[in-house]
Amino acid sequence: MQTLLDALRHIVGSPHVLTDGDLTTWEQDWRKRTHGKALAVVRPASTDEVARVVKTCAEFLKNNPSSGLSLVPQGGNTGLVVGSTPDASGRQIVLSLQRMNAVRALDADNLTLTAEAGCILQNLQESAEAAGLLFPLRMASEGSCTVGGNLGTNAGGTQVLRFGNTRELCLGLEVVNAQGEVWHGLSGLRKDNTGYDLRHLFIGSEGTLGVITAATLKLFPLPAAQLTAWVAVASLEQAVRLLGLAHRHLGAGLTGFEVMGQFALTLVARHFPQLRVPLPLEAAYFVLLENSSHESEAHARAQFEGLLATALADECALDAVVAENLSQTRQLWHLRESIPLAQALEGLNIKHDISVPISAIPDFVRATDALLQAAISGVRGVNFGHLGDGNLHYNVQAPEGVTPAVFLREFEAQVNTLVFDSVLAFGGSISAEHGVGSLKVATLEKYKSPVALGMMRVIKQALDPLNLMNPGRVIRV
Ligand code: FAD
Repeated sequence: MQTLLDALRHIVGSPHVLTDGDLTTWEQDWRKRTHGKALAVVRPASTDEVARVVKTCAEFLKNNPSSGLSLVPQGGNTGLVVGSTPDASGRQIVLSLQRMNAVRALDADNLTLTAEAGCILQNLQESAEAAGLLFPLRMASEGSCTVGGNLGTNAGGTQVLRFGNTRELCLGLEVVNAQGEVWHGLSGLRKDNTGYDLRHLFIGSEGTLGVITAATLKLFPLPAAQLTAWVAVASLEQAVRLLGLAHRHLGAGLTGFEVMGQFALTLVARHFPQLRVPLPLEAAYFVLLENSSHESEAHARAQFEGLLATALADECALDAVVAENLSQTRQLWHLRESIPLAQALEGLNIKHDISVPISAIPDFVRATDALLQAAISGVRGVNFGHLGDGNLHYNVQAPEGVTPAVFLREFEAQVNTLVFDSVLAFGGSISAEHGVGSLKVATLEKYKSPVALGMMRVIKQALDPLNLMNPGRVIRV
């Protein structure tokens, strides 16, 4: 291994091959549930360096198959399914893309931006905004997640109902494949039917097929105004009816529709008492709507007023407030985005990032809640998520007074089986936007069709025959 590490030092420079000291930042997952041991953390600064690192590792593994060497691509390490941290073997190299953080080009006429994989999402949003344009990928981790990780996981976020997942926002990729060759696929074309669309293989592959080093992404005109409304609803049925109404009233202006259960917001109020919740926490659910107008704030407000008057009259809502200005709009989003952190402060819970057809969400939650209560009396649901996409973070917190660690140890497997069986019964997916990582590999094997798993294995083996890239994640071969 020493000769390998020396060769890598020669490529990226000694200060960028980390082997000693505290490597927790790269070895521990965001939720602090797993702590691995890396052979080294390697931090290349260019696509050429990534290619040489991968090629060197591939040759080493070919010559030393028993070494068990492998590479784990890592961006901001905010993933929630343990896909970006090494296992405990000490034989995995973390390939951190964080030094590759340049915006290479912005083409305002083509409405595209080309950026390196290690660019922080928030920096991309700001680069687009400085040019009067919008990069519409948004999520609570945007201050630290990277575009490589967003593409690697095909991240969703809060604007999917209008702009799609990261996949829909990507026109071209630059990739270093598992052999260390560079695929220059940085196209800014919106139409290109020249055979298999390779970019879609790498998007969502969670580092198991190659390393994304740069991407060309779609931009959009910046809206003149974005306003939010905070709406109390009596039930998820009401929330779904409100969504239909919002689509009809706001059309393409509807850019966000998030639902939050009462208990999820109670946790926010408990752990962030400085945040002001605009309506009393008495309703079963609350909805955060965002309306983007290309005309003016007055236009967005008038549209909201029309929508909310109809919603109240048609019993699609109990009460509603519209943000007075941009600062209040941001405060409402901040409340929503504080839910994951409030949960973390409350103690570990059993997380599920599931999707079912939007129309099935109320029945899914009712049926699954009942099954859970029958199995473990007193469990508390922390439900929130992107209702506009049929994506719910259906998380299960220990009953009051039960230590979270004890609850997880005793009930995690049972709760997961119960929830995922229910997801399957409602025609849903066990992972809507976070991916599979290592956390859900066995679950995927249980719930995905054998034909689909077989084709995934064929792709993995064809593109990465040495099993160098993030082995054991997504699909086992
Ligand atoms: P990492 O965590 O570093 O990596 C994630 C996966 O991508 C790993 O499998 C890794 O190997 C692979 N990868 C990373 N870089 C590359 C690369 N250059 N080439 C190939 N593979 C690569 N996710 C959502 O979808 N929607 C949300 O709303 C959302 N909200 C979140 C809120 C919080 C508070 C947190 C902590 C996370 C949230 N996430 C969300 C999950 C996470 O932020 C996203 O999955 C994000 O896209 C991960 O980016 P990252 O740079 O941190 O990737």
